[in-house]
Formats: sequence, structure tokens, C-alpha cells
Amino acid sequence: MFSDLLLDQRLLKSVDKMGFEQPTPVQEQAIPLAMAGRDLLVNAATGSGKTAAFLLPILQRMITDAGPKQGTRALVLVPTRELARQIGKECEKLASYCGIKVGVITGGQEFKVQRALLRKDPQIVIATPGRTLELVKEGSTLFTRLEVLVLDEADRLFEMGFVDDVLAIIATCNPARQTLLLSATLPAGVRRLMQVLIDPVRVMVNEAREQHESIRQQYILADDEKHKEKLLLWLLENETFERALVFTNTRDQATHLSGVMRYRGQRSGYLHGEVKQDVRNSTITAFRDGKINVLLASDVASRGLDVKGIDLVVNFDMARKGDDYVHRIGRTGRAGEQGLAVSLIGPLEWNLKASIERYLRVTLEPRKVKELPGNYKGPKKLKASGKAAAPSKRKKKE
Ligand code: AMP
Repeated sequence: MFSDLLLDQRLLKSVDKMGFEQPTPVQEQAIPLAMAGRDLLVNAATGSGKTAAFLLPILQRMITDAGPKQGTRALVLVPTRELARQIGKECEKLASYCGIKVGVITGGQEFKVQRALLRKDPQIVIATPGRTLELVKEGSTLFTRLEVLVLDEADRLFEMGFVDDVLAIIATCNPARQTLLLSATLPAGVRRLMQVLIDPVRVMVNEAREQHESIRQQYILADDEKHKEKLLLWLLENETFERALVFTNTRDQATHLSGVMRYRGQRSGYLHGEVKQDVRNSTITAFRDGKINVLLASDVASRGLDVKGIDLVVNFDMARKGDDYVHRIGRTGRAGEQGLAVSLIGPLEWNLKASIERYLRVTLEPRKVKELPGNYKGPKKLKASGKAAAPSKRKKKE
């Protein structure tokens, strides 16, 4: 029960209004520890309820202790703009009865707007590292009185090359602050960030694996791109879904496929790293509002996308690694809803699929679309490792 977590009535009221009935496992474990002032290393994926797990203790601290009138009291650093905006929204909802100001600072927006926002002195700032560092350098913001620092999706901060910027920002922060680091995975690169934690408590919730149980994971063999296009269209026409998210590995592919799907009567849009911020925002809003129900996206563009009712995820191109696969399918089957994830596997992707299955200890269920049979039937021979055997050398002509 949320009431067992000793949160202020106003926070309990907003949690209730947001329809959260029970705390999720990460919330149950992390909230009391964070409220006790400990540094935390939280191993939890998107969809676990990790955002509220760090926002609620921050808000509780601000309610209990009025604190200084000026200066940022909590800073949440995240890898992408969308994630910053989403956390900003969740924070505003959670804070709706307690008059705490929240500011979102990201690249892609005007400096002067952000300077004005900082002058209003939001107690909580949600930000991407690049822009934050620029504002720190020009003296528009100071973190000398910071009480809580959150590094959210630390694995992505690392993958996107933000570690040095994050460390430079941390160097300007109040050394007596509390630090919370959250990451779905803990690759070696995250260790440099972990070093800023002081005597951290580790909170492990194997949400990624638990989540898998509410997601059916299938694969369909495909001959080539054209075959995949037909399979994708077939899935969109034959599966019942509210919203579908289709992943490609390249920007061009996302744009191209969105065009093809539109031509075939699907209400689709696309999102990738080079789409301008305002267009991205309107695409996400259209997806959220149901004006479009198919979104083609690259990994980076979809990161942190929190739109309810995504019940179909298609890997048009297989994820390049296990962690990306987890993040991708983590978009569906959230908070107990059922989801379906279908990976289209071409001849060059079989080994990748096998290695992801081994890494995550899952087995994708084979599926066939009888209207669209292909020539590729999977590897002929399987080695003990599960990898396809190398094609045998042709015999020389005699
Ligand atoms: P997150 O892992 O923070 O991205 O949260 C995933 C989704 O779960 C978000 O849409 C949250 O609003 C929602 N959520 C967070 N906590 C709860 C809860 N205790 N009960 C139901 N939904 C929740």
C-alpha cells in the first residue's frame, strides 16, 4: 500500500488520482531507502515505475523541509529530450497538490526561454546533460545547494557519450547531496558514474525478466526487406492492437517504411534522431492521442517513450543487442497489460536472435504467416552453441 510508505497526504492524493493502486516492487524497495537519505544504485528498467520511485522521495523531502528559497534542490539528468519531458509531466502530476515548481531543460529549445525558466527558480530540474553543462558554464544555474541528484537511465547516458558531461556537472554540485543512479543494465561504462555514489544501497528488481512474462515474444522468418514489408503490413492489418511501435535500425528505413505503411492505408508516423524537436513532439502527441496508431522509430528516438496502450512491438530489424531488445519490448505489456512483440528475422539476423535469446534466457516462439511463405527456413545445422554452422564450402569441380 502506498500509505505504508509514510508519504505526505498530498502525495498520496496525487498517486491515487493517477490511478496507482499499489506501489511497484522498485517503488516499495527504493522509496523508504531514498527517504532515509541513502545513495542508491537501482537496477530497474523502463516500465518498472522507477520514475515515481525517485520523484516521490524528492517531493516528500521538499514538503517536509521548506529548504532554501533559491537554487535547484533536485536535479534529474536523463539521456533524451522525450524522457526529460515525460518525467517533467509525471513530476507535475505527482506535485499537483503541493505547489512545487518543476523545470525541464533540454537541447533543441531556445536558450533565452530556458534562462527565463531558471530565473523562476524551479526546485526540481529535469534535464539532458549537454544543455545543462552549457548553462552551468555560462553561470545561468548553480547546483551548489543541490540536495538530490538523480542519474536516470545511466546505461543510456553512457551509450550516448554523456559520461564526461555528467561528471563535469557533478563536479559543480553540492558534495553533500544524495545521489540516486538508475539503470536497466550495468555495463562497464556505467562504473565511472557509479563511483560518485557514497556507500550506496543496491536495489535490484528484475523487472525486465518479470515483464517478459506479460509479453508474448515471437519471431517470423523473412527472406529480405521486401518480404519484411509484406509481413509488417500483414501484422498491422491482422493483429488487433491499439498502438504499434515498429523498430528499424536506420533513420532512412524508418522514414521509408512509414511512407509505405501510409500508402497502404495505415495511420503511421516516424521518429528518429534527425527529426526536429517540434515535429517529434507533435508526432508523439498524435501517437498518444490516437491520431496515428503506428510509429516507426529507431532505438534512440523511442528511448523513454511512455505512451500507454502500446500493445504491439515489431522489430522490423532485430535489435543489435540484448539490452536494446529489452528496452524495445519494454514499451509493451506495461503495468500488467498484455503485449505482443514480433521480431522479423532475416538470414543475417539468425545468430543475433540466438545470442539475444541466450543472453536474456528467453526463447522466442516461431510464427508463420501462411499467406506470405518465404524461402528462408532458418539455419540448416545448429551447432551446440545455438549458432548456425558456417555454410559449407562448395566442392571443387572435378
Ligand atoms: P516508469 O518505469 O517510471 O517509466 O513507469 C512506467 C509507467 O507505469 C508510467 O506510465 C507510470 O505512470 C506507471 N506507474 C508508475 N507507478 C505505478 C504504480 N504504482 N501503479 C500503476 N502504474 C504505475
